Amino acid sequence: MKVELAVEPLGSWIDTNGKPLIIAGPCSAETEDQLVETARQLKALDAVHVIRAGVWKPRTRPGSFEGMGEAALPWIQRAKAETGLPFAVEVATPEHIELALKYGVDILWVGARTTVNPFNVQEIADALRGVDVPVLVKNPVNPDLALWVGAFERLAGAGISKLGAIHRGFATGEASKYRNVPMWQMAIELKSIFPQLPIIGDPSHMAGKRAYLNELAQMAMDLNYDGLIVESHIDPDKAWSDAAQQLTPTAFGEMLDHLQIRQVES
Ligand code: PEP
Ligand code: MN
Repeated sequence: MKVELAVEPLGSWIDTNGKPLIIAGPCSAETEDQLVETARQLKALDAVHVIRAGVWKPRTRPGSFEGMGEAALPWIQRAKAETGLPFAVEVATPEHIELALKYGVDILWVGARTTVNPFNVQEIADALRGVDVPVLVKNPVNPDLALWVGAFERLAGAGISKLGAIHRGFATGEASKYRNVPMWQMAIELKSIFPQLPIIGDPSHMAGKRAYLNELAQMAMDLNYDGLIVESHIDPDKAWSDAAQQLTPTAFGEMLDHLQIRQVES
C-alpha cells in the first residue's frame, strides 16, 4: 500500500548541508546549568544540527521523574540564544504544544507512548492545524505499524507537511540484549508506504545501554536513514532519566567520528 503524503523534504526545513540530520541532547532538561552546558558542549562538536530535551516525560509507571514542565522552557530559550541551535521537545497534549510554541521550541516530537493512542494523536493534530512546525513521530511502543502510519495520516490530515519518523525500537516481549528490539523491517515497511518520509534512528532508546549505541547507529546509517537522535548529558551517570544510555558530548563526538556515513549526492 503506497499512500500519498504531502511531505516537505527534510532539506527544505533544516539545512544539514546534505549530511544526515544529527539531533542530540539530554533525555530530560533537569536544571538550567545541565541543559545550557550540555547544549554548549554539543554545539562545540560542530556536528549537531538540533538539540533535544524532554520537558514532559511520559513514564511508564508513576513515581519516577516526570520532567520539569514549563519551568524548563526559559532554559531552552537561554540555551538557544547561547548556541544558536534549534530545539526539539516531546509534546503529548494540546497544552504542551501551546507552551512549547509560546517559548519558541522549533521542532516537536510525538513520543512512543503517545503514538499508540489515536485519540491522543488526533488531539495533537487538531491543536497543530494551521501551525507550520516540523513534527517527528516516534514509532509506537508496541510493534503495530498501522498505529505509526495512522499518526502520520492524522498529522498530514491537519495540514502538517514537515514530517519525519523516529525509529526507537519496539517492546516485543522477547528476550533481547536491547531495551527495545529494533525490528528494522518495520521502518523499511514504513518507508515503502511513505517513500518521501525522512527516517531518523534513535539508537539510545533501542539500546538502553551505552555499549550498544555504536552498532545501532551504524546500522541506521547503513540503511540510509536520514538522521540520528542520540541522548547526551554532561554527567550521564547522574541523569534523572535514562542514565545508562546517555553519552557525554565528548563521547558522542567520538561516536560520530567513527561512524561510516554514506556520501550524499548533491
Ligand atoms: C525520550 O525520547 O526520552 C523518550 C521518552 O522516548 P520514547 O518515547 O522513545 O520512549
Ligand atoms: Mn529518554
